[in-house]
Amino acid sequence: MNIDFYIDRFVEPGRPMVPIEDRGYQFGDGIYEVIRAYDGVPFMVEEHLFRLERSAAAIHLQLPFPRERISEIIDEALTRSGIPNAIVYFQISRGSAPRKHQFPKVDSVMALTVRPASPPPREKYSEGISATLLTDERWANCYIKSINLLPNIIAKDRAVAGGHDEAIFVRDGHVTEGSSSNVFAVKGGALHTPPVTHWILNGITRMAVVKLAGDMDIRLHEEDFRPEWLVSADEAFITSTTAEVLPIRAIDDKPIGEGRPGPVTKKLLAAFRDQTGSLISK
Ligand code: PMP
Repeated sequence: MNIDFYIDRFVEPGRPMVPIEDRGYQFGDGIYEVIRAYDGVPFMVEEHLFRLERSAAAIHLQLPFPRERISEIIDEALTRSGIPNAIVYFQISRGSAPRKHQFPKVDSVMALTVRPASPPPREKYSEGISATLLTDERWANCYIKSINLLPNIIAKDRAVAGGHDEAIFVRDGHVTEGSSSNVFAVKGGALHTPPVTHWILNGITRMAVVKLAGDMDIRLHEEDFRPEWLVSADEAFITSTTAEVLPIRAIDDKPIGEGRPGPVTKKLLAAFRDQTGSLISK
């Protein structure tokens, strides 16, 4: 069953209720997180809540609840939903106030939904996805998980309209990340991904993959690379909460490696699946 939570209680799913003067609605003045649950257990919830706190601090937003309470609400929502493989989406808006640019003194508002996870179709994992390179037109604080996603959704829409699955952003000649994912490449057996800076969101799945690579003795370089270098890589993949570890078979119709998922990508995907599967017995 779908679950909706708003402000301080569970409510009937889909009921319209957001005031027109909610600042999330009018200004995009808010932050969010997306957490995947595997067999009812939320994955890396502490890391998500830590990132939420960091986003909140960056925009001087007071969270409506302490981290422990948010964690309890997530658990209760998942239990109520009975959905084993779920996506928990939650956002904190600064609150509702007469429309003025400066921050008002009002309470922030949390909204949360639980829905069945809808991962990319199976063949995207076995065959790989197609990506396209686009100019990164976002602001300079991409480490904040802001609900302002216009440049991201415009890029995704352009990618999909062109027959691709994901847009990969390029800023000042360097690859940053995907429109809703982080980007990895493999060359000469080593793993490469852009460093954690203000130009990317520090993905929770990225963190998990970096850790797995360490455990598996795969060399890792967190260094900037150029789009031409990415296209010449042996393998490439994206990571995100919803897509997990998703191989890239081509970028702008140029095949990556042999144009199908490579061995390092497959090993990391298998290890990630092992790790998330292992939550079931927790
Ligand atoms: N970068 C951007 C811009 C994203 O929107 C996302 C997905 N929310 C990610 C990276 C991946 O982050 P995560 O692994 O935490 O889902």
